[in-house]
Amino acid sequence: MQENVNVAEIFGENVFNDAIMQERLPKKVYRRLKDAIANDEELDLDTADMIAHEMKVWAIEKGATHFTHWFQPLTGVTAEKHDAFITAPDERGKVLMSFSGKELIKGEPDASSFPSGGLRATFEARGYTAWDFTSPAFVRQDAAGATLCIPTAFCSYTGEALDQKTPLLRSMEAINMQSLRLIRLFGNTTSKKVTPSVGPEQEYFLVDAKKFLQRKDLIYTGRTLFGAMPPKGQEMDDHYFGTIRQRIAGFMRDVNIELWKMGVSAKTQHNEVAPAQHELAPIYTEANIAVDHNQIIMKTLKRVACQHGMKCLLHEKPFAGVNGSGKHNNWSLTTDDGINLLDPGITPHENIQFLLVLSCIISAVDKHAGLLRESAADPGNDFRLGANEAPPAIISIFLGEQLEDVVEQLISTGNATRSKKCGTLHTGVRTLPDLSTDATDRNRTSPFAFTGNKFEFRMVGSRDSIGMPNTVLNTIVAEAFCDACDRLENSKNLVDAVHDLIKENLSEHQRVIFNGNGYSREWVDEAERRGLANIRSMVDSIPELLKEDTVTMFEKFHVFTKAELNSRAEVQYENYSKTINIEAKTMIDIASKQIIPAVIKYEKSLSETIIAIKNAGVCEVSVESELLCKTSLLLTEANRALKNLKETETKACSLPEGAPRARYYHDVVMEAMNTLRSPIDRLEMIVDKEMWPMPSYGDLMFEV
Ligand code: ADP
Ligand code: MG
Repeated sequence: MQENVNVAEIFGENVFNDAIMQERLPKKVYRRLKDAIANDEELDLDTADMIAHEMKVWAIEKGATHFTHWFQPLTGVTAEKHDAFITAPDERGKVLMSFSGKELIKGEPDASSFPSGGLRATFEARGYTAWDFTSPAFVRQDAAGATLCIPTAFCSYTGEALDQKTPLLRSMEAINMQSLRLIRLFGNTTSKKVTPSVGPEQEYFLVDAKKFLQRKDLIYTGRTLFGAMPPKGQEMDDHYFGTIRQRIAGFMRDVNIELWKMGVSAKTQHNEVAPAQHELAPIYTEANIAVDHNQIIMKTLKRVACQHGMKCLLHEKPFAGVNGSGKHNNWSLTTDDGINLLDPGITPHENIQFLLVLSCIISAVDKHAGLLRESAADPGNDFRLGANEAPPAIISIFLGEQLEDVVEQLISTGNATRSKKCGTLHTGVRTLPDLSTDATDRNRTSPFAFTGNKFEFRMVGSRDSIGMPNTVLNTIVAEAFCDACDRLENSKNLVDAVHDLIKENLSEHQRVIFNGNGYSREWVDEAERRGLANIRSMVDSIPELLKEDTVTMFEKFHVFTKAELNSRAEVQYENYSKTINIEAKTMIDIASKQIIPAVIKYEKSLSETIIAIKNAGVCEVSVESELLCKTSLLLTEANRALKNLKETETKACSLPEGAPRARYYHDVVMEAMNTLRSPIDRLEMIVDKEMWPMPSYGDLMFEV
C-alpha cells in the first residue's frame, strides 16, 4: 500500500507564493510587489534585491543549489540555463550563497541558438530574460537536485519578443483595458482588473519504455511512421472513462503529487478514447500562469513516466487509425472581484452585458477565424485538423440550444423576450433523484464551443504551447470590445445603441454559428456555402499571420509588431520543414536498415522452406510460394517508394528556405512518405512476427 498523502499540506509547498511572500517579505516590500502586479508596473531594484534575498533563503531551505530563468522560446518547449547560487571562493577557499535583485529581474542567456525568424542575426545574439513576477517562482525537484525556477519573458537586445510569453502578457493588458471600458459602460465602477482565465485539458498517451526504445520513429519523431492496425482499435469504446489500470494509476498518483507540490492544481484524470490514451486537467487559472503550468504539466508527465518504466507521448497523432491528442483550451474573462463576464445567468435574454460580450466574441471569431486556426497550427496537429481521419479545420461556434434561441430572437426582432429553461431529467428509478438538466447539451464536434460560462477552443495540439492560442483569443476579443466601446461611449441612448450593436454583430457574423455535427461531410459543404475558411494544413495557415487586418490589429494593441509577426511566420515554416525532414529521414533509415533486411530474411526462410519441402518429395508448396510472391511484390513496391522518398528529400533540401520549402515538404515529401508506408504496413501483416524488427501497434497500445 502507498502512504497516504495530505494534499492540503503538500499543495504549493515548492512555490514562492503569496502566502510565503507575505510571511517572509518585509511588509513594505510585499506591498510594493503586490501594487506592481495589480497595476502592471515595473519593480525597482531595491525591492527586487530584498525579494531575491528572501527567495534565495527559502529555495536553499528547499534544497536548491541552482537557480534558472525559465522561459519559453519559439521552439514550443521551455528553456533554461542553470546557475549555482555560489560566489567566487574567498581567500580561505569558502563560498557564499548569493542571489541579487539584478539576477532575479534580468538574465542574459547566450541566445544565438534559439529560433528568432530573422529578428536577430547570430552575431548580435544578445537576448534577455526578464522576470515575470505575475507568475510565481517555484522549486523543481528532479535528477538534477532542486532548482529554483523563475518564470521569465525572453526578448532581443532591441526589445522584440522572442518567446511565447511576452506577447501573451501584452495581450492580457489589451483585454484588461478594453474589458474595463466595457463593464464601466454598464455601471461597474468597482472591478479593477479583468483577466482571462484558462483551463487546458491535456491529452497524452503512455507506452512501455522498453518497447518505445525499440522504435526509432518514436525516439526521433514522437510518432509512429509505420504500423499496421491491430485487430482491435478503439471501436468498442471500452477505454474511455474505463477503470484506470494499476500501473497507470500509480503513475497518475505520482504526477499529481509532483504537480501539487509545484502549485499546479491537477484536478481531473481519466482514460481517453484511444487505447493507452489519458487526460489530465487542472483547475483554471490566470492565462499566463495556465500557460506556465501547462508546460510544467507536460514536463512532469514525461519525467514521471520514465520513473515508472513508461514513455509519455505528447505528439498529436502518435498512432494512425485511433484518436489523436489535443488540448482543450477553456477560456473566460474574470474580474478581480470574481465576476465571470461569460456567465449568462439563468435568463440570458435579460443579461444585456453578457449578450454584448457574446456578440463581440462571435464577431471576433468570425473575423479572425483564419488567425485562430493558425494559432493551433503545428506539424503534428496537421493530422488532427483537416486530414484523413480528422475533423475539418473549419472554425465554427457552438452555442447550444438556449443561446441559439436567444440569438435568433435578437436577429429577427432586435429583442429577446425569453430564455429556454433548464428541464428536469426523470431517471425513472424511484431511489434515484430527478436531476435538473443544463439548458444546453454538449457538442463534442465543435472546435469552439460555449460550455456554460466559458468557451472551449478544442483545436490546440497536445504538444503545443497554449501561449499563442490565448494571445490570439485575448487580442481579437479586445479588438471587438474596443470597437464596441468606441461606438457606445459616444451614444446618446446607451440601451438602444447596445441593442443595435448586438443585433448588428449577430446578423453580420451569424454564419460562424453551427450547432450540428462538425465531423460530418455535409458540414464541409455547408461551411463552404457560408463562405467559412477551411484551412487544411499548417503550411496553408501560416500566411494568416501576415494578413493586413491581422497586422493592423496586433500593432494597434501592441501585442506583436510586424517584424515579430514576420519572424513567427518564418520560424513556423522552418519548424515545419525541419519536422518533416526528420520524419522522412527516419523513415528512410528504418526502411533501409531494419524493415527491408527483415523482409529479405523472411523471404530467405520461405525459399528455404519451399526447397526443403520439395526435397522431401512433396510437390504442393502453393501456400509458401504464394506468400513468397506476395512478399516479393510488396518489397519491390516498398523499395521503389523508398528510392522516390530519398529523391524528394534531397530535392526539398535544395529549395529556398521558408514557404517554398515547407510547401514542398507538405505537398510532395509527405505524399512520398505515405507511399512508402503503405506497402510496409501490408508487409507487417504477412511477415512472421518474430522477424518484424519492432513492436507492433498492438504491443504498444494494449500492453502498457
Ligand atoms: P468539461 O465540462 O469540459 O469536462 P470541466 O468542468 O471538467 O469541463 O472543465 C474543463 C476545464 O475547464 C478545467 O480545466 C476547468 O478548470 C476549466 N474551466 C472551468 N470553468 C472555467 C472558466 N470559467 N474559465 C476557464 N476555464 C474554466
Ligand atoms: Mg472539456
